[in-house]
Amino acid sequence: MIKQYLEIKKRYPDAILFFRLGDFYEMFFDDAHIASKILGIVLTSRNKYEGAEVPMCGVPHHSADQYIRKLVQSGYKVAICEQLEDPSKARGIVKRDVVRVVTPGTLDDEEGDYSYIAALYKNKSEGCFGLVLYDACISKGKAALLSSERALLAELVKASPREFVVPRDMDVSFLRKHFSSPFITKVEDGSTEGFEGFPFEVRKAASLLSSYLKETFKNGRSDLHIALYNPKGFLFIDDVTEKNLELFRPLYGEDSRGTLFYHLLRTETPMGSRLLREAIKYPLIDVELIKKRHDAVDELVSKGDLSKIRSVLSGVRDIERIASRVEGGRATPRDLSILRDSLSFAIELEGVVEDFSSELLKFKVGRLKGLYLLLKKALSERPPISIKDGGVIRDGFDEELDELRFFLRDVEGVLKELEERERRRTGISSLKVGYNKVFGYYIEVTRPNLKKVPKDYVRKQTLVSSERFITAELKELEAKVLSSEEKILKREEELFSGLVEEVGRYTGEIKKLSESIALVDLLCAFAQIAIERSYIRPQVDSESRILIKDGRHPVVEILMGPGEFIPNDVYLDKGSSQVLIITGPNMAGKSTYVRQVALIVLLAQMGSFVPASSAKIGVVDRIFSRIGATDNISLGRSTFMVEMEETANILRNITPNSLVILDEIGRGTSTYDGLSIAWSVCEYLHDHPNRPFVLFATHYHELSDLEREKNRVKNLCVKVQERGSSIVFLRKVSPGRADKSYGISVARLAGLPGEVIERAYQLLKGFEGKGAPCKVVELPERSSIVEFIKGIDLLNTTPLEAINILAELCSMVKADKKAAGGS
Ligand code: ADP
Repeated sequence: MIKQYLEIKKRYPDAILFFRLGDFYEMFFDDAHIASKILGIVLTSRNKYEGAEVPMCGVPHHSADQYIRKLVQSGYKVAICEQLEDPSKARGIVKRDVVRVVTPGTLDDEEGDYSYIAALYKNKSEGCFGLVLYDACISKGKAALLSSERALLAELVKASPREFVVPRDMDVSFLRKHFSSPFITKVEDGSTEGFEGFPFEVRKAASLLSSYLKETFKNGRSDLHIALYNPKGFLFIDDVTEKNLELFRPLYGEDSRGTLFYHLLRTETPMGSRLLREAIKYPLIDVELIKKRHDAVDELVSKGDLSKIRSVLSGVRDIERIASRVEGGRATPRDLSILRDSLSFAIELEGVVEDFSSELLKFKVGRLKGLYLLLKKALSERPPISIKDGGVIRDGFDEELDELRFFLRDVEGVLKELEERERRRTGISSLKVGYNKVFGYYIEVTRPNLKKVPKDYVRKQTLVSSERFITAELKELEAKVLSSEEKILKREEELFSGLVEEVGRYTGEIKKLSESIALVDLLCAFAQIAIERSYIRPQVDSESRILIKDGRHPVVEILMGPGEFIPNDVYLDKGSSQVLIITGPNMAGKSTYVRQVALIVLLAQMGSFVPASSAKIGVVDRIFSRIGATDNISLGRSTFMVEMEETANILRNITPNSLVILDEIGRGTSTYDGLSIAWSVCEYLHDHPNRPFVLFATHYHELSDLEREKNRVKNLCVKVQERGSSIVFLRKVSPGRADKSYGISVARLAGLPGEVIERAYQLLKGFEGKGAPCKVVELPERSSIVEFIKGIDLLNTTPLEAINILAELCSMVKADKKAAGGS
């Protein structure tokens, strides 16, 4: 057996081999060492091979999934080797082979997000890439042709694939640079058969993927459902922007309640939530498509049967995933019953949305109705997960099965009757007919009655206080029962695989239905949110302006509680109001304001309504968001370096319809450096021929001076009210500039000790007077320089005299180095 093991292992050197041995999967040699450590299971050695002990460990097959998952999540492949024949019937060593290889991208998760395998092909002469992103659990994917490594990385980062498949000769160092310990498999560069109509590079990538999947899934999966997409056909949001706007993850900590995704997740179905994720990652730019979504949301909001639709939707489960399991030959009876129930809800839904006029809400169940009726007739109400447990097929579906079952149900009666008869015949009133898994049927007689046992009883088993017997009649009955149980199971298996095959003919339609339902679900979520949170329909067009009245931040608004959030307006256009500089003290609400503009635009282009009282939005094709470095983000590189790299990246990639959100850019260095960088970045964006829309939030109130020099710069400030030496945040954005930073007032609010505050005010006076921090020189009271300064009457001095005075002063200071402290 170890020889057989080693032969199979030779073919899967880089995988951990799960070797099926009866009810266990065993691992041997190095695999055993690795697995025992990762899984925390005992390492033993029971056998010797070629004189040496063989280390081994094992896991029960019925709970293998969790162990496989753990190994795969730790970065290993697992090859599952099964027994291919019944051990009780095998001659010699049971035939075994690998039936599946599990990798990070082929782990079959229960309901959840997309998990992609990315197949890449590089055209070396053109420098472009074919990319296929494929979810093996849903068996659905998408593909794109990308013109550069940068464009490829952008898509990869968005998809965050669990593994990569590349040609054997491809240089993967760029993947290692951008993904932490990526799971990469190199595959022989194959043909480009199939996938007609796709670009050459995409066909190459698809064929790599398809041979990889054949290797991991073994049985079939020849046709891949892949749709081509063009990344340029969507509003592009890079990964830094995604992070800064907290679309999926909070900037700090783990609490997802701060993210947009969390607050939009009002979908009812798994495919709906997957689509929501896609919708946030890929907002639309086609005005007509966006309007269609708004039309649908509008109708759902106004028609009033939204809760009915959503409750029907909630009955639809992950039929996309089930269809995929059917295709992969892994569907369980439970899966088919879930499909049946989901189809019944889908049929109901089809009726409910029938009278809507929006085409996005309508769909046809079509031929799947027939499939539903078949499943309803064939499957029991709640079949088990494993076909081996029986009870999968409903009574009345199959005559042969019914007869077998009828016989079995009748056996109870037959046994009772036999028991009665034997009691009478033997005169033993306590005689019992029973059943036991090991010994089968028996007649039990207690010790005191043993002398009454007739001759035709054959002893089977002796217990403390009784003996068990068998008779010819009972033996015959037992054989009949056992064989009918076997026959029933076999018949159920036949019928079930017939059903799976039948469902297999419909998987394409099931997936299509799933997509339609996902869209209905997404639009219903938008409508539900619109109603609950008083969102309005934005006007989306291709005019170059953004006008939002009473806009609110979709997440902060909720975190603050009802009525607490102060709405604000924004106006951007290319003629006079292209760059907005928002000043105000720390904590005033600048970041919130600039982000809410980006989020409202994003929501509108996803097809959602928006938190505002009115909004006119000319579609944007890129949103950039950058935040100035703060010291609490610790990365490998200097945070200021990161900040500048990200800023550089924006300046290089500005499109005519970009929206740029800059928050405290320049903060990561000294005041004058930072201010100068902020200033020149603003100038650059203002003067850029593409005229991107820019919102620049800063506490450098000096930046407001730009308004005087650049005609499309507008100053906004978030006002605070001074109350004595304290301030009150008003959170209201209005035209104008902040004249002070109020930093010390904020510091006081934060609870800095009184002396520190006092001293800070003193220093501030000094700094403000001199413009810049400079050396303070103590002069002797009666020095000639002091006398000279006291004599100057600045108010009655002409500029020319002033220059002369300065020159005189300089020469006196030079002459009296001692008085000037050597400075
Ligand atoms: P800044 O960027 O000016 O330092 P933030 O935008 O981070 O300030 O806002 C600070 C806090 O003020 C936020 O956490 C939020 O609680 C509150 N806030 C911001 N904007 C508003 C608003 N429009 N209405 C009510 N509270 C707000």
